[in-house]
Amino acid sequence: MLFFNIVGIVERTNGHTIMYRIAALLLLFLSWPLSAQTIKIDNLRLWAAPDHIRLVFDTSASVEHSLFSLKTPDRLVIDIKKSKLSGKMPQVGSGNPLVSRIRSANRKGGDLRVVLDLKRPVKPKSFVLRPNRKYGNRLVVDLYDAKAKSIGKAARPVKVSRVVQRSAPRELVIAIDAGHGGEDPGARGKAGTREKTVVLAIARKLAALVQKEIGMRPVLIRKGDYYLGLRKRMKLARRQKADMFISIHADAFRDRRVRGSSVYTLSQRGASSEAARWLAVQENSADLIGGVKLEDKDDILASVLLDLSQSATLQASHNLASSVFRQLKKLGKTHKHKVQQAGFVVLKSPDVPSILVETAFISNPSEERKLRSSKYQQKMARAIMKGIRGHFRSNAPPGTILAERAPRKHVISSGETLGRIARQYQVKVRDLRSANGLSGDQIRIGQVLRIPKT
Ligand SMILES: [Zn+2]
Repeated sequence: MLFFNIVGIVERTNGHTIMYRIAALLLLFLSWPLSAQTIKIDNLRLWAAPDHIRLVFDTSASVEHSLFSLKTPDRLVIDIKKSKLSGKMPQVGSGNPLVSRIRSANRKGGDLRVVLDLKRPVKPKSFVLRPNRKYGNRLVVDLYDAKAKSIGKAARPVKVSRVVQRSAPRELVIAIDAGHGGEDPGARGKAGTREKTVVLAIARKLAALVQKEIGMRPVLIRKGDYYLGLRKRMKLARRQKADMFISIHADAFRDRRVRGSSVYTLSQRGASSEAARWLAVQENSADLIGGVKLEDKDDILASVLLDLSQSATLQASHNLASSVFRQLKKLGKTHKHKVQQAGFVVLKSPDVPSILVETAFISNPSEERKLRSSKYQQKMARAIMKGIRGHFRSNAPPGTILAERAPRKHVISSGETLGRIARQYQVKVRDLRSANGLSGDQIRIGQVLRIPKT
């Protein structure tokens, strides 16, 4: 199933790149005498993620570049061949942990030199991205703190089993993932609302609600306006030992009339419908926008192997999805009448039940207005919270505070008496009666009794 998805995406991507290649070739032909001309650097964007800084240069064509570092003071020099800055250098905020200033100068021979004045030594990583649906050619430079351990190295190999036996009951960890971010804005409404912005607002509100909940702790996967790879989102959740993963998105469609919310789980055999497949390509292609897709092959191999052990997680995911979907139905219109399934990469954690909520259609003008309103965002967060609560009421994993608090139940079978049941659970018959509103000793086979706490 994973192969299906990957192949599907690669094919489509290749479709795009082939088209772009043809277009690029045509352009090359048409502009051949001009090809020696200077490449324009139209814009430079700066995104601050918790573990790295990303610089994105918009370039009028694919560029050749080189990087080198200088010491005392620390600087990083980026030389871009045959190019000229036509836009402005962004201002670096004083809060930036790595960069203090960006300067640029034109060099002899027509190259552009960009110098980053650094607050500390960095490990740079750079690559060029070809045009896609949203952007043109780009040069991306990622700066990692040279002294900090990189995320990739710090991540331990994927562990499927997890220790559940602990002395004190633990909190449930709810990973909340706001889709897209940074260089990847996600879908866009007619009034200019960006998916990445509204979903982060909803995620933050949901995190605040989870924080108030007894026996639960939120983990915000994306905390600001920066891009995170889909697999990295999963890694972050797993590292926090998340009990569930909720990815929050807003939908878009060509037809602006389409509206309503949807809840997705990972499909067992890739996408379950053509529309779901289309959407899966949309959401998964975020990795093509944000960076190099699926560069970590070990990860893919691990997922393929672990797919085999996913069915228990899928069952839990489906249960959670249904519980959330019931609440969304109460909130307003839903797009489909039941939980949908698709091959979203972000849902592929083998041991963390995961769902993806498309809160509303940002392409629908009235839903776009709603998504912008803080009141609606709060309503949406509350509905998802109720769904989470509903799921865990009957599915709290052993060893959690919620499991300890959950009332125990006993189904009466033939030959049992109240006295025997009371002895079995070490409770008083009196307490058993009052917990179940019984006045005498009459019980019947199949009756469900609540067992009070001792
Ligand atoms: Zn999305």
